[in-house]
Amino acid sequence: MRTAIVSAMQEELAAVLALMPHEAKQVAAGREFWVGRLHGHEVVVVLSRIGKVAAATTAAVLVERFGIGEIVFTGVAGGLAPGVDVGHVVIADSFVQHDLDASPIFPRFEVPLYGTSTFACDRGLTRRLTAAVAAALPGVHVHRGLVASGDRFVATTAESGALRAALPDALAVEMEGAAFAQVCHDFGIPFAAVRTISDRADDMAHLDFATFIRDVASRHSAAIVRALLG
Ligand code: SAH
Repeated sequence: MRTAIVSAMQEELAAVLALMPHEAKQVAAGREFWVGRLHGHEVVVVLSRIGKVAAATTAAVLVERFGIGEIVFTGVAGGLAPGVDVGHVVIADSFVQHDLDASPIFPRFEVPLYGTSTFACDRGLTRRLTAAVAAALPGVHVHRGLVASGDRFVATTAESGALRAALPDALAVEMEGAAFAQVCHDFGIPFAAVRTISDRADDMAHLDFATFIRDVASRHSAAIVRALLG
């Protein structure tokens, strides 16, 4: 089975891409898809680009054009719940779109015509990913639960406070996961996601994010992918 390994940004995936420099590059929808083998597994590695629309396009192309059987997202996120701190790891078990609001026709956060506000990740794949994180990053604090996605880089204490109040169960905030989860639900493709916390989505977020994405994000992704496929 072909596994898709996806990140939003080059900085998150650089060390993984460096492991497959001689693989075949295919361009679709303006993205570069690296098709080949990693640790003996058939993989497609791609940068989704940032945001929910970019993520949804990437997910659909992976399924329809590259015939992948499962998608794993690895990247960074802002910590939202108390105690979800920089350097911790969050494994998603479901996703919500924090900026989706078709009220009063539908309840806030509900995805119209789906009758739900959350999409679950695949249990089996998430179990494998959790084991991979434990093996790759021993001693790192791991959280598992709901992750919120939206088309905003949340970088003020006021905005992250409002999100915490509206979605008290959300552990972290990022910009792609809920789109992957919804598209994978539509196609019946297993999806799992891991995010290292790069910032606290507060007034310091832009500084913490920049340092973290440079120093840690790619190393974490490569270690996790190696443990997952190895
Ligand atoms: N200023 C950055 C913005 C990148 S967007 C730049 O110029 O490159 C942030 C990326 O990291 C997104 O892909 C998102 O999924 C994740 N992310 C990390 N921290 C986040 C936060 N506080 N809010 C939203 N997304 C965050």
